[in-house]
Amino acid sequence: MEAERLIVSEMFFSIQGEGASAGRPALLLRLAACNLNCPGFSYLAPLTGEHLGCDTKLVWKQGKAYSFASIIQEWEQNNWLDKLRGGAHLVITGGEPLLQQEKVAEFIKLLDTRSSSPIYIEIETNATITPNLYLQQRINQFNVSPKLISSGESRDKRYQLDTLKKFAALPQAVFKFVVQSNKDVAEIKTDYQTVLNLDTSRIWLMPEGGTLKAMQSKLQMVAELCIENNFNFSPRLHIHIWDEATGK
Ligand code: SF4
Repeated sequence: MEAERLIVSEMFFSIQGEGASAGRPALLLRLAACNLNCPGFSYLAPLTGEHLGCDTKLVWKQGKAYSFASIIQEWEQNNWLDKLRGGAHLVITGGEPLLQQEKVAEFIKLLDTRSSSPIYIEIETNATITPNLYLQQRINQFNVSPKLISSGESRDKRYQLDTLKKFAALPQAVFKFVVQSNKDVAEIKTDYQTVLNLDTSRIWLMPEGGTLKAMQSKLQMVAELCIENNFNFSPRLHIHIWDEATGK
């Protein structure tokens, strides 16, 4: 039988920086690899200036296999498991964490044997892969972040309508869109809000930008779009606080 392991890019304790639970203390478990590239985003590699687009690509391209036991041991040693038991969130992110969803489900089943009350778990996803039934029932919050035309991805890759409908049908799924300009709003309304029949209370707009400078230039524009359209505003708190440092 294949070893019980996850391919992990990084894990660290911080705060949830984005979306519906922004500000909540959280253990971030970033899993390696993504099925998209998002070349339309603006992020440049800090050392070389190379255009990467996605601001976490440098991290999720790296991955190391961790056995389930070694992950739990590290969390215990750092007292992170106690924090989760005390109500901090576990945020499973990427890359695209659902690429490893069968292992994620097995890992959560093991984790649940280590806590007397269920740990609050969020999964961040680009909404191109349907979560299995176990995850649909167990995950407390899906942060669904479909990629728009401005991501630079082809519609064939980024817009998976059956999967989007599955997420829309889950009451614990909230939708977060990365906004580069006011042109993005028409697409959000047409292709998502209307097609998926989403209440505005389930929609967050977040300014694009992997650095403080890039993001700040869009803050006001995105806030005004939220006010105008009754959407929620999402900060990127980790960038406000730590700019582009990784592992924060
Ligand atoms: S889907 Fe997310 S993690 Fe993947 S390339 Fe796009 S922005 Fe990066």
